[in-house]
Amino acid sequence: MHSKALLALLLSSAPLCAGSVDQWIDENAKSVVELYKELHAAPELSLMEEETAARLADAWERAGYAVTRGVGGTGVVAVLGNGDGPTLMLRTDLDALPVVEQTGLEYASKVFTTDKRGATVGVMHACGHDIHMSNLVGTARLLAENRGFWSGTLVLIAQPAEELGAGAEAMLADGLFARFPRPDYAVALHAANDLEVGKVSTCPGYFGANVDSVDIIVRGRGGHGAAPHTTADPIVIAASLVMDLQTIVAREIKPTEPAVVTVGSIHGGTKHNIIGDECRLQLTVRTYSDEVRKQVAEAIRRKAAAAAQSARAPEPTVEYSEGTPSLYNDPGLTARVTDTLKAELGDGQVERAEPMMGGEDFSRYGKAGVPICMFRLGTIAPGRLEAWEAAGETPPSMHSSKYYPDPEPALRTGMRAMAAIVQELLPASSGD
Ligand code: ZN
Ligand code: ZN
Repeated sequence: MHSKALLALLLSSAPLCAGSVDQWIDENAKSVVELYKELHAAPELSLMEEETAARLADAWERAGYAVTRGVGGTGVVAVLGNGDGPTLMLRTDLDALPVVEQTGLEYASKVFTTDKRGATVGVMHACGHDIHMSNLVGTARLLAENRGFWSGTLVLIAQPAEELGAGAEAMLADGLFARFPRPDYAVALHAANDLEVGKVSTCPGYFGANVDSVDIIVRGRGGHGAAPHTTADPIVIAASLVMDLQTIVAREIKPTEPAVVTVGSIHGGTKHNIIGDECRLQLTVRTYSDEVRKQVAEAIRRKAAAAAQSARAPEPTVEYSEGTPSLYNDPGLTARVTDTLKAELGDGQVERAEPMMGGEDFSRYGKAGVPICMFRLGTIAPGRLEAWEAAGETPPSMHSSKYYPDPEPALRTGMRAMAAIVQELLPASSGD
């Protein structure tokens, strides 16, 4: 056999690849975990991820990627071309949360900072974005050092402000899909607080919700608390509106369509014996489909107007701001990813993820026309899950001051998962 052909065959044969990936991970897991701990101890809030972004940009540059900084704010794009083939985008987010860490870990964050409103807040990676980042640095190095088993173009992005639902939009607006190779697929993982290390879970179709915020100002005509007949009481109007809003999901939306209308804040009045002029409500609204999203928005406006009308009160103000769009995992891509993960990690290690009503702006890359898949990565050592179960407790949720992953086994699985997905989506050409 021609030696070049033999080399190509060796490089593209699966058993050798699996061995080289595992070996690479064994040799490098320690440094990836170190990076994780450093990132964990130095969190930065959304839109302030300067140092974090610089660390990722430097690491990707050292690994041999063409790096562009400052895309959509602090966003970073790293490109590695490796022969013919499709383009795959892998995404990590960069930002942490205004939470005072209470894990008691030796590498716990002790960071306090001043937020955009001037308040002093603790900062913590309580959503596992530090796992996403260290995983994507490890994966980037692994793929750059093992170019024989894949062929195509890798685009890695470090996205700011996921927690504000703002970073993906900013990177797209700054030409992510125009200035850089447009991906044929985009894949991301998210740390899971309730899944054991070594496991992953996937969910085809809707995985995250449309997240909309609504501000309602119910207007009345104020006056003396002892003379209600001379007023239109905005608190009574608002109270009946709160109840009426609950009938949107209960009575107007098809029961098989998920939707949530939550009134999270209500403020009105100043004193016992004064009927005020207005009462303010703040709502969060969650839906999956565009149709239900529109239907709920129309119903909220209609019910607010009707509540005012029934009290002969002035027209209320309803300000509707559409936030993060729902995350729809492309079913075809998700099936491929699921099969690949089963083959790599074992059937029993790949669970079906439950769709959530939370938001994730990874959805925006899908809305921009790229098939996307986000899967969940187990981060909790089995002993901890068992202890909570024995105590009748649930694991600390994401965003909790007490959430922490077991980084080494989680990252080992994360890197294996990503490398297997790259091999599947950007296969090495076995031809020449
Ligand atoms: Zn989060
Ligand atoms: Zn998150």
